Amino acid sequence: SEERLAHAQKLEAIGQLTGGIAHDFNNVLQVISGSLSVIERKLAQNRDADIAPSLEAIKRASNTATNLVARMLAFSRRQTLAPREIEPDRLVAGMEEMLRRTLGPEIRLDLRPLRCRSNVTCDPSQLESALLNLAINARDAMPQGGTLRISTADRNPPADIADSDVPPGDYVEIEVEDNGAGMSREVLDRAFEPYFTTKPVGRGTGLGLSQIYGFVRQSGGLMRIESEPGKGTSVRIYLPGHAPTACLQAGSAPPSAESFD
Ligand code: ADP
Repeated sequence: SEERLAHAQKLEAIGQLTGGIAHDFNNVLQVISGSLSVIERKLAQNRDADIAPSLEAIKRASNTATNLVARMLAFSRRQTLAPREIEPDRLVAGMEEMLRRTLGPEIRLDLRPLRCRSNVTCDPSQLESALLNLAINARDAMPQGGTLRISTADRNPPADIADSDVPPGDYVEIEVEDNGAGMSREVLDRAFEPYFTTKPVGRGTGLGLSQIYGFVRQSGGLMRIESEPGKGTSVRIYLPGHAPTACLQAGSAPPSAESFD
């Protein structure tokens, strides 16, 4: 099933993202400078001219620009993250309510956060938004309903996606799996590409997977997608794992996840 794998080793995606944002950013600047010229002209003719609509256009364009930059930062490796030590099982379990509400009653949520002994150190809110994003993708792929499974395990990435940028060691695998529509080869090949989306305008930005990929790489991790049309999709995130710090300090053997409560 080699041909069903996509593992986004290539970072030309970043180049495409930057290009896309530069283009949109330029459009926004056109709005701002155009509106400023209108204001200038109006005020030159009449000190009491109505400049409110132009100011409104500038305000909106500025907001869009702020947004574009935020997206670009979310993808770039220089994003400021706030890493903390996380118990993966607990993080996943803590998302249950939110996920249920997001997925709705048509989709069965099967959480299997039972198997992880290692902790990971990464930005917890980024990891949560990554998992939420993957859950939304899964939901979108199961319009008739289905099952979304999220499981964690102490498991290293397969050799074919571990490259020299990534230090060897133990990893935690977080898998988000659905039995929805799956992806064709063509879609799978482009899934990580910024702005690539098969969703209708207004529903998809095409930035979800590329942002998740950026975050995972920045956290020293790896990612893989396997998908089969008509069967479903599995997205696996591998983050470097380590023994819980508290138990290193205690000098004891790692306890099970439960005994940490
Ligand atoms: P968006 O969700 O905004 O389209 P993404 O980068 O998250 O952006 O996803 C890109 C594309 O990959 C989606 O438009 C969809 O075609 C495909 N995709 C992502 N996740 C899944 C999934 N779980 N099942 C089927 N297709 C998916």
